[in-house]
Amino acid sequence: MKCPICNSEMTCKKSTYHYQESGLDNIYLSDVEIYNCACGEEFVSIPAGADLHTLIGLDIVKKNALLNGKEIRFLRKNMGLTAKKLSEYTGINNATISRWENGTQSISKPHDLYLRLLYLTNKGIPHDTIRHLIEDNFPNVKPEAKNTIKHTISIQSMPQTENCQIAS
Ligand SMILES: [Zn+2]
Repeated sequence: MKCPICNSEMTCKKSTYHYQESGLDNIYLSDVEIYNCACGEEFVSIPAGADLHTLIGLDIVKKNALLNGKEIRFLRKNMGLTAKKLSEYTGINNATISRWENGTQSISKPHDLYLRLLYLTNKGIPHDTIRHLIEDNFPNVKPEAKNTIKHTISIQSMPQTENCQIAS
């Protein structure tokens, strides 16, 4: 790949990338192709948005701590819902959703699991997978669990723009 600034050949390495563009603090993508040029230019090759965000969402709904505000917002947006629509569909007060997302109020465990189920249904996840999550993951969601889980998402299964040429 040529550098868009100076047109030199860029070097490439596969590395773990802290994906802050997701709007979440704790998402890391493994095996991301990162191109660097001697001039200082850097290009990070991140696969196209929608599928990647669903991979992230599916990792989030498996966590054993309650959803934090940023995660609730991420799941809602990834479902394509405004806070108003989510309120209409679930009967949860709009102001409550705002307080969860702003981090001024913690979500309760029943509401948390309800949102996870809504997300799984919205994404068309197969019934067997949902049942497995309900039976194996949901009982392990503990309100007292520390909310500092680092999510590392493997993007190896996703199509990439180019294959990384290992620099000689
Ligand atoms: Zn350059």
